[in-house]
Amino acid sequence: MELQTAVEQLKTLQAKMHAYYHAMELIFYDSVTAAPPETDVGRGHTMGILSEERHKLFANEQVGELLAYLASHKGELDKQTAREIEELQRDHAMLSRVPVEEYVAYTRLLNEADNKWLKAKNASDFAIFQPCLEKIVAFSRKLAGYYAPEKKPYDALLDQYERGATMESLDQFFSQLKAELIPLLERIEAAPQIDNSLLQRPSPIERQKQLTQYLMDIMSLDRRYAAVGETEHPFTVEFNKYDVRITTHYYEDNLFSSLFSVIHEGGHALYELNTADELMYTCLGEGASSAIHESQSRFYENIIARSEPFLRFLLPKLCELFPENYANVDAENLYRAVVSVRPSLTRIEADEITYPLHILVRYELEKRLIGGSLSVADLPGEWNRLYQEYLGVEVPDDRRGVLQDVHWAGGSFGYFPTYALGSAYGAQFLAAMQRDIDVWGATAKGDLQPVTAWLKEKIHRHGRMQLPADLIVHATGEPFDPRYYIEYLKEKYAAVYQL
Ligand SMILES: [Zn+2]
Repeated sequence: MELQTAVEQLKTLQAKMHAYYHAMELIFYDSVTAAPPETDVGRGHTMGILSEERHKLFANEQVGELLAYLASHKGELDKQTAREIEELQRDHAMLSRVPVEEYVAYTRLLNEADNKWLKAKNASDFAIFQPCLEKIVAFSRKLAGYYAPEKKPYDALLDQYERGATMESLDQFFSQLKAELIPLLERIEAAPQIDNSLLQRPSPIERQKQLTQYLMDIMSLDRRYAAVGETEHPFTVEFNKYDVRITTHYYEDNLFSSLFSVIHEGGHALYELNTADELMYTCLGEGASSAIHESQSRFYENIIARSEPFLRFLLPKLCELFPENYANVDAENLYRAVVSVRPSLTRIEADEITYPLHILVRYELEKRLIGGSLSVADLPGEWNRLYQEYLGVEVPDDRRGVLQDVHWAGGSFGYFPTYALGSAYGAQFLAAMQRDIDVWGATAKGDLQPVTAWLKEKIHRHGRMQLPADLIVHATGEPFDPRYYIEYLKEKYAAVYQL
């Protein structure tokens, strides 16, 4: 085979794979935004066929031979193509071990699960979702065995979301966090508490939607390529770098829920929109990993938007849209209310100090579910017990407990730890960024361009060209170090609570 022909075949293959991805993501996006509630049967049928076609297109011997041929000529290839082959060979080896009928059955199961989860959540009844979740857990364990038979199942799943992450590395990370955050939380709880009741003042949803548009402007989200929708659980989906959709959820009595969701999802969107053009339609044209993705969304949400300079800048806009709520609020009180720490039931409403504890609960439960030492039937009870132990809160029902997140319905075992890792990466990025630019001077003016330009240069544009650990070294000059995160939290919250 001629090398040039093989390279062309490789590019065509990736473009076709991307077309399947696009179609399937669009069907998923429709299912959670516009589709009527009882439409999952037909959708499951279509998704089954598309996933089968995609599996056949990629997980076959000819593709294996093509990749092996190209890998043997690696020295003659450009950097990007060589990197594509590295990733594709890995994916090919994993997917080839998954029998096509199981792959299709799994796709259908996940389609059904999404609907079941939402019904169970609305009825606050775990029993509706339990049989489906049992099948997903069993499937996930089986897939883990196909992906990396030499690894423990949960390690194999963790590696899907954050390359190199293992139970050993995460146990160490979380125990470091626990050792620092639980005493910090105790000191905060012993300090005079902040009145944050202003956060619950009723805010008409029509005006919250105007605020969403304003926030998207502040973040320079180009509306030609980025749109916002509404879903039960906010998320971002990228069809390609010129078509990114974010979603939010509006609550009349919780303006900041949507505000922070929009900024969080906007952070994910900017990552995708800023990926280099030449990576489009290849396996590298997306974020480096889930944790790096969360580092971007959580950077904008927590480090930028939960800062005094940003809230001081935002206050006049809040006064304009909700004069009845904010006319008599000063910036310092708004900031203190927004960052006030309160152990609570809901992850996505959690403050920065208790958030990692919400993740820790999920990490420990996943580890045991996939490891086989916890049954799905016992999951709600264990969830409630750990919330009591780590956060000191009593879980009143499944809706606000074990059913609150969509991730397990999506089969995403191994994803949750990436939120805590992402937060920690973000703090290290901030330290490096502050050496280069005046982060707070710009933020105080509502100018997020310098921050975005820095992230684009160091992270966004590279897509998956580098593995997460290498990307961190290139962006910050040193390997990942969770001390940056711990110091960031300690310094910020010691000042807020005058500890
Ligand atoms: Zn996110």
